[in-house]
Amino acid sequence: MALIVQKYGGTSVADPDRIKAVADNIAFTKKRGHDVIVVVSAMGKATDNLIALAESVSKTQPGREMDMLLTTGERQTAALMTMALADRGIDAISFTGSQVGIITDTTHRKAKIVEVKGDRVRQALADGKVCVIAGFQGVSTDKEITTMGRGASDLTASALAQAMGADACEIYTDVTGVFTADPRIVPQARKLSKVHFDEMLEMAGAGSKVLALRSVEFARNHDVPLHVRSAFTWEQGTWVSNEEPAMEDPIISGVVTDMTEAKITVLGVPDRPGISAALFEPLADANVNVDMIVQNTSTDGTTDVSFTMPMDDMAQSESIVRRVAEEIGATGVTHDNDIAKVSLVGAGMKSSPGIAAKMFRVLADEGVNIQMISTSTIRVSVILPADDMERAARALHTAFGLDSGQAYSAPLPERK
Ligand code: ADP
Ligand code: ASP
Ligand code: MG
Repeated sequence: MALIVQKYGGTSVADPDRIKAVADNIAFTKKRGHDVIVVVSAMGKATDNLIALAESVSKTQPGREMDMLLTTGERQTAALMTMALADRGIDAISFTGSQVGIITDTTHRKAKIVEVKGDRVRQALADGKVCVIAGFQGVSTDKEITTMGRGASDLTASALAQAMGADACEIYTDVTGVFTADPRIVPQARKLSKVHFDEMLEMAGAGSKVLALRSVEFARNHDVPLHVRSAFTWEQGTWVSNEEPAMEDPIISGVVTDMTEAKITVLGVPDRPGISAALFEPLADANVNVDMIVQNTSTDGTTDVSFTMPMDDMAQSESIVRRVAEEIGATGVTHDNDIAKVSLVGAGMKSSPGIAAKMFRVLADEGVNIQMISTSTIRVSVILPADDMERAARALHTAFGLDSGQAYSAPLPERK
């Protein structure tokens, strides 16, 4: 008998039929004699809809109240799933993040886990129950309800798997595993049977949605292998673990696309020590995750500074930057929402020079203009116009020999 954590994402529980199909799978797992902890996301686009609702009534949207609102999405699914399990003769109980003691820091909407207590989960499992836990949420050290960032139900799952000493952590989603690129954008993408944590971390960090970055960080730090698989076909998916992949070991393991960032440029910044700190310290204090930064020094003693950050943080960042720009005597601030990031990720890059050069050549041949570049030892990322993203990703996928020869064939459910 094993202890299995199963996480089901929004598309997998998007409507009553989906909830019933997932309940069947949970019941099947339980009836095979396993202990099961289930983590659920909000149904379909429920979180987006709640955010839109908040936008329609409020310009300020205090973090505490947003978290009170957004946590209801997952709570709804957890209760419904537990009812569906009852119909299948499964003794199950739903819990919020707070009830199971997922303790976070006090940063609303991006809270970080400080501890997972899990006493009620342990007790319920000992009583033979399936635990159905509302993902994405916790309770802060100040006893306030918090959420842990978009996509954070993945994090709830890996954190619970670690805290409860689970034998497996299964991440059920709407594609059949981790692919060499998002199969919605590159239909020729190939499924990887294994991915090393280091590569998955870079893929998630570069913006691949399939696993939330912090869930991968958590899983890697605590060595919790993740099995990413489909809640529509139930076939074997991709194992993300510490194991080095043997077969599929090309230099590049994936092309990652990301449309969720925006760019701010500060023009005519005086070129003197302390200016970058003056710009970026207040952004850090506001918990803005600045991604790429480019500074172009000109001959007239001023520089232009561009940086990218999540689109969600754009309004707040721009108001901070406008204030600082005035203080330091910069001449202007512009923003651009129509950008995308395309990255190549591969552990083999470390020992293989010329990857970036080849990437730039492929993009040049496609007539794509690169706006910013950043690299790590196993990643090269570029910012380019949003309209060019799909073409660029497909061209790079082909040029680096990743195409599968056939288009993605499993059902790609529509996002509700
Ligand atoms: P869930 O709601 O289950 O958490 P997400 O939408 O967060 O699902 O993540 C699954 C989606 O991630 C897929 O539908 C796919 O479009 C996207 N995706 C991006 N990159 C990849 C990749 N390399 N492999 C598989 N899916 C990817
Ligand atoms: N419902 C949340 C979101 O849409 C969390 C999740 O699905 O993981 O971001
Ligand atoms: Mg997700």
